[in-house]
Amino acid sequence: MTHIASDAASYPRPAMHIDGEWLGVAGRRTQPVLNPATGEVIGEVPLANSEDLARALDGAARGFRIWKKTPADERGRVMKAAAALLRGRVEAIARHATMEEGKTLAETRIELHVCANLLEFYGEECRRTYGRLLVRPTGQRSMVVHEPVGPVAAFAPWNFPIANPGRKLGAPVAAGCSVILKPAEETPASAMAVVQALLDAGLPNGVVQLVFGVPDEVSRQLIASPIIRKVSFTGSTVVGKHLMGLAAEGAKRTTMELGGHAPVIIFDDCDFDKTLETLAVAKFRNAGQVCVSPTRFYIHESIHDRFAAAYAARVGQLRVGDGLIAEHHMGPMANARRPVAVGALVDDALSAGARLLAGGERIDAKGFFFQPTVLADVPLAARMMHEEPFGPVVMTAPFASFDEVVEQANRLPFGLAAFAFTENGRRANLIADAIESGMVGVNTTMIAAVDSPFQGVKQSGHGSEDGPEGLAACLVTKSIHYA
Ligand code: NAD
Repeated sequence: MTHIASDAASYPRPAMHIDGEWLGVAGRRTQPVLNPATGEVIGEVPLANSEDLARALDGAARGFRIWKKTPADERGRVMKAAAALLRGRVEAIARHATMEEGKTLAETRIELHVCANLLEFYGEECRRTYGRLLVRPTGQRSMVVHEPVGPVAAFAPWNFPIANPGRKLGAPVAAGCSVILKPAEETPASAMAVVQALLDAGLPNGVVQLVFGVPDEVSRQLIASPIIRKVSFTGSTVVGKHLMGLAAEGAKRTTMELGGHAPVIIFDDCDFDKTLETLAVAKFRNAGQVCVSPTRFYIHESIHDRFAAAYAARVGQLRVGDGLIAEHHMGPMANARRPVAVGALVDDALSAGARLLAGGERIDAKGFFFQPTVLADVPLAARMMHEEPFGPVVMTAPFASFDEVVEQANRLPFGLAAFAFTENGRRANLIADAIESGMVGVNTTMIAAVDSPFQGVKQSGHGSEDGPEGLAACLVTKSIHYA
């Protein structure tokens, strides 16, 4: 374990952007921002009061009136210019994102490019919200057009501090909506950088506003306002259900990206070494704090013990430490809650009879580190076979038949991502069809792309982000008839 000083002096002062003004901590409640690698305070984030939120709502109403009439070409120009600005600022933004979230610099650099690519994609896609012309008798016309849904209240979590704000802003801004964004209070600087890029690119005041606050206070006030027409949330299923309840009071649209518990089905005809390496890298990205993280490894019984042992040996080579240091493969968990929660799940699995093959404990350091962990033969009674661990933990279990593993994979109320590894093409098709999940990766864990919809089924949520489907989720449909 190596630590460097937390370099807090270079960290931006967290501020909100409301109705054209950056507003800091003066006169407001605050919350400390911690560097999860050191546990040190690196900033203070202002928490919005009720007047701040009322101002943001008024600003969003005005911003929407301007932006919905702004031609798609101009909206696209702003978004593409923001993407270029972000790319030019990659080193500073990635550094601040690592300082506040913990993941490695290599990961935050990639994340910044994902965000820029998404803004650029939607900068093009906004010109393609075509409607339809219906077939009618001569002299008559009926048409179907798409319009922006209206001001959106968007809530983004801390695990992708740059890309989540990008997702919450990209499609609605492209569609012509205004957005009040509440990112996680743990990671304010990354969200500020995304908003700043859009403002520097020429986004008019009010189109995007950035607030921090006590999550329950902010969501209640924003969602209750008649100004807000849509609620977009990424986070846990329990919070998502609560926000859906609030949205239902005003019959508001929702997009919900909720929890997952991704099954990984490893058939005996997989490419053993490639599968092992793919999963060793993918699982420990962002210390496993990823909603689509590969989690429940169902391994064919004929290769289970060999695969689990080789995987654990590979995982043991991962170097864990401050994400600012290039040699580290995995950083800390994002906040003090996570290692405690993961430790409790691991202890529970061990007492239920699981075998510990790697890791299993917190790392004795100032930060919020947890060892990359592999548990084999995890019984169904263990809580982690049902609850999303959201951490650097893999659990394995053997399976005998195709039908049995499909039943296990589909057993939970979640259905976000699923993965399968096989070199048999027919089996690949059959398993992809059989899995109840919004996204399936066969021989890959790369299931997110700007042009591909990202979504869950069952209690993993509804509505898509990314791709044309993400844009469609920010539009309402109107039919117009001329006699
Ligand atoms: P949490 O459930 O308290 O919060 C999750 C997110 O929801 C945070 O960003 C938080 O600010 C927000 N939130 C909580 N209550 C809210 C409210 N009333 N109104 C608006 N927003 C609210 O949990 P946590 O400790 O921050 O994270 C742990 C769990 O959250 C994980 O176990 C995981 O299931 C889930 N999570 C999921 C994702 C994802 O990408 N789907 C991301 C982060 C966290």
